[in-house]
Amino acid sequence: MDDPTGTSIEIHGGVRVIGGTKVLISTARARVLLDIGEDIPGEADLLRDSTHARGGHGLADRLRLGGAPRITGLFAPEELRAVGPGAQEVHALAAADDRPLVVVLSHAHIDHDGLLAHLRPEVRVLAHPDTIALHHALEEAGATTPGTSARLTPIAEGQEVAVEDLAVTVHRVDHDVRGAIGTIVRASDGVLAYTGDVNLHREGGMHTRAFLEAARGADVLVCETTMLSFDPLPPEPRSEEEIARVVTETLTGSEDLMLLSAYERDVDRAALLIHAAADAGRTLVWPGRHAAVLTAMGIGGVVTWDGTRPQSGSQRRAGELATGRGPHAARTVGIDEVLAAPGRFLVQIDPEDFTSLLDLPLGPTSAWIHSQGEPLGPFMRDWDVWQDWLERLGLTTVPAGSTGHAGPLALCEIVERIGPARLIALHGFHPERLEVDGVQTVLPEIGAAIPLRGDGTR
Ligand SMILES: [Zn+2]
Repeated sequence: MDDPTGTSIEIHGGVRVIGGTKVLISTARARVLLDIGEDIPGEADLLRDSTHARGGHGLADRLRLGGAPRITGLFAPEELRAVGPGAQEVHALAAADDRPLVVVLSHAHIDHDGLLAHLRPEVRVLAHPDTIALHHALEEAGATTPGTSARLTPIAEGQEVAVEDLAVTVHRVDHDVRGAIGTIVRASDGVLAYTGDVNLHREGGMHTRAFLEAARGADVLVCETTMLSFDPLPPEPRSEEEIARVVTETLTGSEDLMLLSAYERDVDRAALLIHAAADAGRTLVWPGRHAAVLTAMGIGGVVTWDGTRPQSGSQRRAGELATGRGPHAARTVGIDEVLAAPGRFLVQIDPEDFTSLLDLPLGPTSAWIHSQGEPLGPFMRDWDVWQDWLERLGLTTVPAGSTGHAGPLALCEIVERIGPARLIALHGFHPERLEVDGVQTVLPEIGAAIPLRGDGTR
């Protein structure tokens, strides 16, 4: 054994909350951090809407509120300016650590990558090439912090990256965003596998299953538990084929204009919705930002507004980007075309501009198709006002979504297939519900060290 003290695991986020997972694996010579996301604020969180981070002090404030990991040598010193009570502890995190530190991003969602902009420049951040492409597309479209994609180093599927005495390999998994990966970290005294956010119902869980095979027999599995958070437990999520069927049926059942909310980061769902609309004889029209992201990711058949429909300045600029991409450019439609034949269109709403709905020719059977786009649900600040808009405009809601997370049965199957000695359950309100025979479930405390080798003989 190269490391007499043994490898240790510390959990710095995602404890009894959905999102925000941060897993630090340390030896005497190296550190690897799995994910660097923001916690998704809950009902009692002091950082929930409408509290805004202070410019230049956002990270320090988060650290003082327990909303960022207290890991020495992780963040850039200039991000660690604070005054008043607790300032010393924040400043102390600026101390250098001689061990190299590598961050691995499981996927491009804010609860996994949201603190990326605060890292020390010498911290290397590994991500799947599709995650880097998506970050680049989002930056270009003005939909995320600029400069983050330039921080990311690609790691190919199956490629092993050595960080002193730790070896990192990644495998694609099925989630609801391209480039999602599961990670395996090999140390001299054991193996840790981390699911990231994962499911078995998209593409039949084809990628996830390959990861489970590669991770089989890991000593410790760190697993998400999102779908165990709710009462009653939800059924297993529906497939993408089922969503396409619901959307096409809804669209063919009406001769009025229909509205949509989908998430621009789930570009494969967006492509499916474009096809479902076409199957129903309709054109799906996206705001500029969605169109810019989708065209950058190579999605075909993207349509956005021309200058005849008022859009915010940032949407307009993103739309111009989308229509200027040569062979993969978005096509445009004008508001007059939609006014002339409302039943031939499906319009994605702009969640930041509800008043723009006043431009649209809604009819008695117009409806809002909700497919994981914003506003997402009652936990969002704009949900109540959106419900009032729906009521005023006489729009019914058609649920046409499916989570990117594994259902309760699939979570058990994931643990069973890997068959670890111990399971660290995270990223959910009720991690204790993930129980599998023969596997010890560990419910971590923030920052407390857990040995990778579980027999206590360190
Ligand atoms: Zn997540």
